[in-house]
Amino acid sequence: MYQSIVDLRSDTVTHPTPAMRQAMLAAPLGDDVFGDDPTVNALQSRLADLLGFEAALFVPTGTQSNLCALLAHCQRGDEYLVGQMAHCYRWEGGGAAVLGSIQPQPLAHQSDGTLALADLEAAVKPDDAHFARTRLLALENTLGGKLLPFGYVQAATDWAKARGLARHLDGARLFNAAVAQAAVNKVAGGPSPGKLADTIGSRDAGAEQAVLAEARRIAQCFDSVSVCFSKGLGAPVGSVLCGSAAFIHRAHRVRKMAGGGMRQAGMLAAAALHALDHHVGRLTDDHALAQRLATGLAGVPGVQVELPQTNIVFVDLVDETRERSADLLRYLADNGVRATGLYRLRFVTHLDVDAVGIDHAVSVIRRFFKAD
Ligand SMILES: *Cc1c(COP(=O)(O)O)cnc(C)c1O
Repeated sequence: MYQSIVDLRSDTVTHPTPAMRQAMLAAPLGDDVFGDDPTVNALQSRLADLLGFEAALFVPTGTQSNLCALLAHCQRGDEYLVGQMAHCYRWEGGGAAVLGSIQPQPLAHQSDGTLALADLEAAVKPDDAHFARTRLLALENTLGGKLLPFGYVQAATDWAKARGLARHLDGARLFNAAVAQAAVNKVAGGPSPGKLADTIGSRDAGAEQAVLAEARRIAQCFDSVSVCFSKGLGAPVGSVLCGSAAFIHRAHRVRKMAGGGMRQAGMLAAAALHALDHHVGRLTDDHALAQRLATGLAGVPGVQVELPQTNIVFVDLVDETRERSADLLRYLADNGVRATGLYRLRFVTHLDVDAVGIDHAVSVIRRFFKAD
């Protein structure tokens, strides 16, 4: 009998490691509203340098980071082009509209998560009093665990620039995207899922450098980038928004307005700095565990699994009722495995699960479907 709970609801559920807690306790502190918390300042300049921006801003959540970005890019009566499933459109309580009077223009995603350039082009409004002013393109990478192909990111952001639009990246999981992109780059002949699987979980000298370089290459396609530290990077709290000095100056005002000016926030920033030092290279382990889960479920009758590119596995129940998936979730919980979803169940790997836990989850699911 497997003893501990395997919590696959999200990569936000991780607890700070003992070493991260040590770093938090040891952090030099100040009052960040006065701008003099040395650890916050160190984190902000570290990430700005890493991703190639002038400035950065530490904020409590990814939601507030996106809100600061949208309100810093757009004025009242402006609009942003965004995917239907994007966090900064669908999952943030409509904050940009509620608090910024900014209109979203949501667009359907292609099956790979991208927004078709033709759809983007068609959505740009003419300069005419009937319309909101199209001002910004907001992309998300990874999106639902999917890597936006780098060639697409380049093409879409080049298009936006040529159209005079600003470009924001919700990179809550930018480093997962960078790990996946580095793996794609390593595979000669392109990203076929089978070959990609061979490179996931492999760590060699220079692999982490390649990941950091990819993160920067992706980020440099945008005018602003938001990164979450409380997802796969394993910090308890915090996101960082990067951009030009003028942009961050405007975002700083929004953060204050939204109630996000924190005082001795260096204790939290220290966790994020620790994560940058110790938890970027290991994201490939999460991707390998996601592969392990998906592979373990392949061939189970009634279950459809896509091979994951990063740390999120979606499991579709074929020809099943909503009650049946609720039954499965209950059965999982009774057997020490936590997940979320309705028809489409979601399993997310992270630094508080290991191969033993994943194998336990696989065997519980297989038992439910009587696949063994
Ligand atoms: C988690 C997440 C956020 C921010 O979430 P918070 O819970 O507010 O930190 C933003 N964008 C994406 C894509 C996310 O996954």
